[in-house]
Amino acid sequence: MVTLGEAKDPYYLPHLTWPEVADHLRRSTTAILPFGALEQHGPALPLGTDTLGVIAVARAAARETGALVVPVVFPGLSSHHMGFPGTVTLGEETFARVVMDAAASLARHGFRRLVLSNGHGGNEATLGYLAYRITRETPAHAMLFGIAELRKIYLTAEIDKLDIHAGIGETSSMLYQQPALVRREAIERPRMRLDPWRERLLGRVREDPSLLRYVTLGLPAVHECSSNGCITYGDPARASVERGKELFDAFVAALAAFIKAWEEATA
Ligand SMILES: [Zn+2]
Repeated sequence: MVTLGEAKDPYYLPHLTWPEVADHLRRSTTAILPFGALEQHGPALPLGTDTLGVIAVARAAARETGALVVPVVFPGLSSHHMGFPGTVTLGEETFARVVMDAAASLARHGFRRLVLSNGHGGNEATLGYLAYRITRETPAHAMLFGIAELRKIYLTAEIDKLDIHAGIGETSSMLYQQPALVRREAIERPRMRLDPWRERLLGRVREDPSLLRYVTLGLPAVHECSSNGCITYGDPARASVERGKELFDAFVAALAAFIKAWEEATA
């Protein structure tokens, strides 16, 4: 017999009843809003990679901090991935309106700290701007805990390989978190075609990691710079469950540490 349903997670809003949310608010007014993407991740990883991953990290961090995870949207801003079937992208204004409406709802119920936890590079600039708007326009304060923080962790080993999409890092993460969704036989190194000036800057990121953001800013559409949708100069076949666990634990610890620091500073 097939069993439907999943175990109840008391830190995950979709699983709670309204009296439980009211109870929760007496203990914590911090909400984590996870943001990812519904976009192609090469031939081996599922389109939900970013959103599934960021929700898993947020739920683990919530168990450590007592915050509540509130997922409000599955797709994100992915126009640069539309050259591959399946990618669903929102327009920036649609995305902004969903985030602002969700933030206003949570603020009205008494949530005061909103952590915008971002697992997808394409959302980063817009979420930074929205964190500012939420703080200015609602009674809640919002902070972006995003790609910049995650890259400090996952690019340490691969920083000069531009391993930012469906590469060694993300393949490892999915092998650990969602092994049944990875097509191992399809893991394949992409042929990359980047502007020569980006490759020259990339050659210098070991000496100055801050150069990486100039390499990635305004990258062309993914189908123009990668043969299979992965963005990495590394070999995704080097991914491992062990590396995926190491990354997951480090992401959770960093997010939980940030939340605790923010709560203590504003208690
Ligand atoms: Zn991704």
